[in-house]
Order: sequence, then C-alpha cells, then structure tokens
Amino acid sequence: MPVYDYKCESCGNQFDELVSYSTDDSEIKCPYCNEKKSKRLLSAPSISTNGHSAAPANSCGAPSGFS
Ligand SMILES: [Zn+2]
Repeated sequence: MPVYDYKCESCGNQFDELVSYSTDDSEIKCPYCNEKKSKRLLSAPSISTNGHSAAPANSCGAPSGFS
C-alpha cells in the first residue's frame, strides 16, 4: 500500500498516511487535531521503483562452457 502525504486543512499540519486504494480522502483523520479535513498532496507515493536493474537473466549473452 502506498504512503501519501496529506495536509490538514484544519490545522495546516502535514503528515503521511498509509492508505489503501479504497480509502477515501475524507476518511483520513489528522493525527494532530483529529479533524477529517485532510487533503492529499500531489507528491509521488513512496514506492521506490528501481528501473535500472541488472540485465535480464535470459538475455542473449549466454554463458559459454555450458555443455
Ligand atoms: Zn489537523
């Protein structure tokens, strides 16, 4: 599940919340003032995607000496 940054519209504090995809923003409660006025900030979710990994295991560069 992704972690999103939220900003409370009531007290202005920012916090991050682990939310599922079915969770509505209006259900996110601010940990500081307990108001449900949180607004999701448009930052990327903190899921690290390592796009530049090593070459695929089954590339054309087959190892030699394999009888
Ligand atoms: Zn708040």
